[in-house]
Amino acid sequence: MSDRETARLPAAQGQAAQDAQAASLRDTSYAFESAEPGLRKGDEEGGAPFLEIRHLHKSYGSFTALRSIHLQIRRGELVCFLGPSGCGKTTLLRAIAGLEAQTSGEIWQDGKNISALPASQRDYGIVFQSYALFPNLTVADNVAYGLVSQRQPKALVAQKVQSLLDTVGLSVSGGKYPAQLSGGQQQRVALARALAMSPGLLLLDEPLSALDATVRVHLRNEIRALQQRLYVTTIMVTHDQEEAMAMADRVVVMNHGVVEQVGTPRDIYQRPATPFVAEFIGKANKLQALAAGNGGITLAGHKLYCPQAPRLAPGQSLHVYLRPEDCSVHDCTAMPPVASAPAPNGSPVLTGVVEQLEFLGAVCIVHVDVQRLPERHVQLQLSPAQCLQLDIQPGRWLQFSIHAQQLKIFAQAA
Ligand code: ATP
Repeated sequence: MSDRETARLPAAQGQAAQDAQAASLRDTSYAFESAEPGLRKGDEEGGAPFLEIRHLHKSYGSFTALRSIHLQIRRGELVCFLGPSGCGKTTLLRAIAGLEAQTSGEIWQDGKNISALPASQRDYGIVFQSYALFPNLTVADNVAYGLVSQRQPKALVAQKVQSLLDTVGLSVSGGKYPAQLSGGQQQRVALARALAMSPGLLLLDEPLSALDATVRVHLRNEIRALQQRLYVTTIMVTHDQEEAMAMADRVVVMNHGVVEQVGTPRDIYQRPATPFVAEFIGKANKLQALAAGNGGITLAGHKLYCPQAPRLAPGQSLHVYLRPEDCSVHDCTAMPPVASAPAPNGSPVLTGVVEQLEFLGAVCIVHVDVQRLPERHVQLQLSPAQCLQLDIQPGRWLQFSIHAQQLKIFAQAA
């Protein structure tokens, strides 16, 4: 467990886990076994959001960790908070959980202002990266903890616990202790425990970070399927882009305590709202260009038609982001080409020398030195078959065109 996690879990079982357990001690509105997907109150287009963050601000002394956060989350959504280390995603999750008091702003859940409620009176279940299971209790007792504290009838508790263990694939592990389970199995127990009280909100704080790659992928698919089946509104903190893209209905991209963009995985990848999002999500070559008027830009001395470019006066500086896959390779030759005709789609053809070829299995990254670009170096993504067919090798001359309408373009001041 990291120092920071230890600091966040000071008591024997972790204060946060205890707070979270306490938060589960209340009557709940949906029965675990009977939850089915489907439209519910407030889900209609334009209906009230299930969770709403209004002008949330959090400072630690003179340091601002969260700045004017506005966010609306619909019932049944899975939303990921994604961003680089220190951007404030955990602070935001903890504020929603009542484990961290906001400096100002409000949090509304299911139509109620919960901003001042202690964690124990909020309606959520939480899963931590470190599992935070009770080591002296069996798996079944861990899952049953909240139900027993609520003095639910023994037979009902046993039935619910078994149903939850079946759901998370641990049907025969109820009698084991956490130390007898793998990391992935312990996280399933933590998930079952968080769901035991049928919370309105499920909070997942980097739940997969401590697991190895194969288990992560397997478990993320299971969590997503379960979340959809239960239709439980879920917020997950992660710094793993692939995880966020694979699991989320919408991703909240954060940077330095502010929300840069909220959108579907496709939105944030294909239509980044800011240069930060364009650079942070996926890979991109950052290039310099100039506005050329009438939806055009000038790049490497060529005019490209880019209707998505911001409307700026000709000559204004632009930041242009080219995804490695947004290109077509036309030829690769041992000698420099004499002249390059435009590509069949009319795009100008650029020429460069192949510097390096990275074989990554499903794709190859080709590093190219393009003399006409001020940045010189670009990375293009091709299939291994294309690389073989065109005999792409270091030292050879590559002719390629870029897909102008896929470029992400921002004014330089943005
Ligand atoms: P990571 O991915 O590394 O967990 P994060 O995006 O979750 O990062 P937070 O833990 O939310 O980041 O922290 C946001 C900022 O607030 C960081 O700069 C952090 O150092 C600071 N911070 C967090 N907790 C405290 C605290 N108790 N006192 C002072 N500063 C804090």
